[in-house]
Formats: sequence, C-alpha cells, structure tokens
Amino acid sequence: MVNIVVVGAGVSGLTTALLLAREKKHTITVVAKFMPGDYDIEYTSPWAGANVLPMNSAAEQRWERRSWPELSRLAADVPEAGIHFQKCKIMRREADANKPDEKKGGYDPLFDANPWYTDMFPDHRFLRKEELPEGYVDGAQFTSVCINTALYLPWLVGQCRAAGVVVRRGVLKDIGEAKGLSAFGGEGAGKKVVVVNCTGLQACRLGGVMDQNVYPARGQTVVVRNEVEPMMAVSGTEDGEDELFYTMTRASGGGTIVGGTYQKGNWDPNPDPNVAMRILKRAVEMQPELAGGKGIAGLDIIRHGVGLRPARNGGVRIEREVIGDLTVVHNYGHGGWGYQGSYGCAERVVELVREVVAEWDGHEVSVDK
Ligand code: FAD
Repeated sequence: MVNIVVVGAGVSGLTTALLLAREKKHTITVVAKFMPGDYDIEYTSPWAGANVLPMNSAAEQRWERRSWPELSRLAADVPEAGIHFQKCKIMRREADANKPDEKKGGYDPLFDANPWYTDMFPDHRFLRKEELPEGYVDGAQFTSVCINTALYLPWLVGQCRAAGVVVRRGVLKDIGEAKGLSAFGGEGAGKKVVVVNCTGLQACRLGGVMDQNVYPARGQTVVVRNEVEPMMAVSGTEDGEDELFYTMTRASGGGTIVGGTYQKGNWDPNPDPNVAMRILKRAVEMQPELAGGKGIAGLDIIRHGVGLRPARNGGVRIEREVIGDLTVVHNYGHGGWGYQGSYGCAERVVELVREVVAEWDGHEVSVDK
C-alpha cells in the first residue's frame, strides 16, 4: 500500500482520485487550492459547458472513447450526477473546409469528414445536403450528453469521500511539497508516496514542473435561463478565427451555456462585453427558438463567464516522472476536452500507478497502452 497525493480538485483530479480509490489498495488524499463550489480564473472545471463532442484525433481517441461508456451510464442511471442526454447537431462551414491546421480552433477533429467516433454514438448520422443551411458543407446529428458542472463536481467529491478519499485544501509552490501532504502520513509513516499532478493550466507555474508548453485557451460564455435542443456547434464564425458558436442546455435547471471563444495565450479573466454581444447575436441567429424568436431581448441572462482551458503544445501529458526523489504521475493539459476524456485519462493514471508500485515490489506489470 502506498500513500497517493492527488494535487488538484478539478474534473481531472477528482476522477483520477475516484478511480484510484476503486482499486482499494492505497490511501488517497486530494489537495487543492480551489474546490468544487469555488469560481476562480485559476480553476477551469466549473466554467466548462460541458458536453461530449469528440476533439481528439483518431490516434488519440482512447481518452474520449474510454470515457463515453461511463459518462453515458451516469446519464442513464445516476440522475444525481447531473448529466443528461441531449440531441446534438454539428455543422462544418464551407469557409472552414480547407483551412490550414494553424487556423483551426479547438474543435478540429470533431469536423473531420470521416471522423473516428461515428460508432461511439449509436444514432450518429450525417446530415443530408438538403438539411444543411447555405454555406455549410457537411454536418451530423447524434445523441450526446451535457454535464451540469455545478452538480457533477460536488457529486464527484461525494463519490471520492464515500470511497475513503480525504479531500483537503492546500496551496503548493512546488510539487515536492505534495509529499508531506497526505492525510495518512508521509514517508515518515513508513509508506512510499506517489504524487499525481492534476493542476491543469497551473502546471506552467508550479515549481518542479513549470511546463512551458501549457498555455490558456480562453473561453468566454454566457449562461442563460432559456433552454434549447439540440445542442449545437459549428466549425467557425464570421467574427474571427478565435470565436466559436455553440449551445448546450445543462441538466436540472443548469441553464444553457452559449459560447464562445477559443483564444490562445489570452489570460484575461474578465468577460469582454463586445464579445458577449457577438456570442448572443450568433446564438439567436443560429437557433432563434432559444429566445422564442424575440432575438437577444428574449434571452434571460444568468451570468457571463470566462474559463481558461489548459491547452498544451504536444497534447495532454499523462506520464511518469521522477522529480528529485519524488515519483510523480502527470495528468494535465486537457484543453477543451477535460470532461469528455476524464475517465480514459484517469484510467491511464491508474495503470501508471500500478506500474510504479509493481516496480517497487519487484514485479513485472503488463499494461494496455
Ligand atoms: P482545473 O479544473 O483547472 O483544476 C486544477 C486543480 O488544480 C484545481 O483544484 C486547482 O486549485 C489545483 N491546483 C493548481 N495548482 C495548484 C497548486 N499550486 N496548489 C494546489 N492546488 C493547485 N471540456 C469538456 O470535456 N467538454 C466541454 O464541453 C468543455 N467545455 C468547456 C468550455 C469552456 C468555456 C471552458 C473554459 C472549458 C471547457 N472544457 C470542456 C474543458 C474543461 O473544462 C477542462 O479541460 C477541464 O476542466 C480541466 O480540468 P483540470 O482538472 O485538469 O483543471
């Protein structure tokens, strides 16, 4: 048995702690500066929509493919998790069909002409030409899920607690400090420690990690009381390379998230009123029924939001590293897909922790990469 300290209580940290706890082999402590219930620009998870619209390439599909069964099970069987099924419709604009990669936003593989995920959604079907508005080359519809993050994150904390995980506050300047933060005693208590780094965007600032490949992809949203189905996303907008259009209605009165932006390298925590106006204008143009046909005046705004997606050059980092004398397993840099890849990524961390422990015990372990 080892003491595991998970740094971070976003969707990555909590899901990882939960899957590690289900192993029933180790003691687990989650330490974080921000927790479910907090809203801060350093804490991305509460600001997400969040829905499942695959964003990884076919080569990296593992994360989302292996998360979908659990997220859809929660939507079907566990109402208290705050996840529900929603029809969705995605469409690719003519203007985006042949864009060079560097001009594409966070969504790219979602709009592949021949995407890897068609078999993941049982009712996936491509739209017929006559179903597409002018200016769009292709599209699809299928049933996905929308996660009410305000319900789901506390639910994850509850699941962790029920599984014996201790969740506590802590602010680390350096990853090395995690070693002494287990609620079950550190190495002094005679146990080895594994630290799991789920610090999201802050991995670029955390001592001992300082990953300069991590950068923010700023997402501005408006949350409205109005509801709409299907949820929608399109490949780009007329309003600039870094502006998006999407809608999703959260379960249980969570309102509809109207987005958005994908602004690389932008750390601004404040909603920009001009951007907000464009977000709302696009929404009522694309889905007039959202506002009962009354335009922006028909929208009932709950709040404006800004979250910073933890994007990373080179993609998500899920790997082992020995820092000084500390064994760390990293799980950060999920960009705009942290929820929809959460179980697949956490599962990989469990495999890596098994590898570490087996090596310490002098055993071989075979893992499914
Ligand atoms: P975070 O949620 O940022 O959590 C990091 C944790 O680490 C926090 O608890 C923090 O306090 C802690 N921490 C960091 N540094 C320290 C330190 N030094 N000491 C102690 N604690 C520390 N994803 C989807 O799957 N679907 C979507 O539809 C979707 N929509 C999105 C829309 C928007 C507008 C945004 C902004 C994001 C969206 N995302 C979506 C992306 C998703 O929100 C992120 O990928 C995910 O939340 C990242 O979670 P995380 O746990 O890695 O990081």
